[in-house]
Amino acid sequence: MQRLVFSRYTSRDGHPDWNTLSSGAHELAAKLRPRLETPRTGPAEWRRRAHSWRTAAHNYAGNLERTRAGREDLWPLYFIWTTLRPCNFRCSYCDDHRGARYPELDGRGRLDTAAGKRLLRVMRTRTPSVYFAGGEPTLRRDLPELIREARDLDYYPIVVNTNGSLFHQLLEKPAWRTFLADVDLLVVSLDALELGTLKRMWVTEHPEDVIRNLLMLRELASEMHVKLMVNTVIQPGLVHEARSVLDLADDLGIWFCPVPQNRGPRIDPDVLADPDYQELSRTIVERKRDGARISGSVRMNERLLNAAPLDCRNTLKPHVDHDGKLAWPCKASANVEPARIDVLDFDSVDALYAHARRRIDPTHFHGPRPDQCGGNCNWAQNYTTDEYAWGLRHPAHLARELLGFVRR
Ligand code: SF4
Repeated sequence: MQRLVFSRYTSRDGHPDWNTLSSGAHELAAKLRPRLETPRTGPAEWRRRAHSWRTAAHNYAGNLERTRAGREDLWPLYFIWTTLRPCNFRCSYCDDHRGARYPELDGRGRLDTAAGKRLLRVMRTRTPSVYFAGGEPTLRRDLPELIREARDLDYYPIVVNTNGSLFHQLLEKPAWRTFLADVDLLVVSLDALELGTLKRMWVTEHPEDVIRNLLMLRELASEMHVKLMVNTVIQPGLVHEARSVLDLADDLGIWFCPVPQNRGPRIDPDVLADPDYQELSRTIVERKRDGARISGSVRMNERLLNAAPLDCRNTLKPHVDHDGKLAWPCKASANVEPARIDVLDFDSVDALYAHARRRIDPTHFHGPRPDQCGGNCNWAQNYTTDEYAWGLRHPAHLARELLGFVRR
């Protein structure tokens, strides 16, 4: 039996029985391992990464020019694709960026496999990386096929954000044998470890499945060349649970991404006012400084966790909905209704962005005025765009960040 050794994490009442979970995870990993395709390595893999980096460098040069000209319609770093709306969980904090919960929205109209592949081809004309989201993306039977397409198109990194609840079943299926080999970064939502809390928060009977699957994925991650990350929404009254997840992730070598809970398009004031939250923020930043596996840079985490004013640049991370419509320039905009533009009407991101810019100019879109977005969304992804915008004005800083990312 695999015993987990903890140095930072301390179990609390209601946390899982780690011996049982880790032994279940170990058995699962042993059963699944022979069924999984091995990841590509060598020249083919390096060509994929180099192609993606070339796109990113090309965009950076274009973005530098646009910034110097005072423009904010920047070429994308990656695109977010809400592949579908349904979800098998009902998380209390779930939000589609327009105030609705994904599982409660009409799930019809999602792109089929062929249209999904076309979307990937169009977006790849200018986008180095793709972020598959939902709803719960693993509910799509064709997800492995779409991810293989993304890999063949040389997207890098390929990111999937999931609740992780179904992998023990999915990875047994022949259609899913390529999944782990093709994904670069797997982000699993884990907001607490107290099982009763998770049951209520996620509205699921078996939250321990997620934690066992996470342990199973951890066993497979290094051989499958997958970077494994937990995404933790830090909620009022549950800061101690977020701290437990941080400590657990630290002990297990899993990446940690903190997400302070938002209320509407701003950080939840109850989170920010909580002294435990302030202490947790300091711990996260200190550990990041000491080299812990925490997403983003020290500067980015300091700014995110303290809700510092940010330069939000949404065209760096265009958000495409389940129906192939791009919400431009920002899906979360509170004051101005975003334009919804069908990506499949275009052959390239250049043509798409030229059309979109004519509908709404993204320059000076972020701000409080009635003709601006009216938000200050405290999301890690926004602080990533803020870092990049900073990097356009301070190229040496961005070079250091990129070097750190590549090394990791
Ligand atoms: S801060 Fe404004 S532009 Fe940025 S995500 Fe929120 S609403 Fe959109």
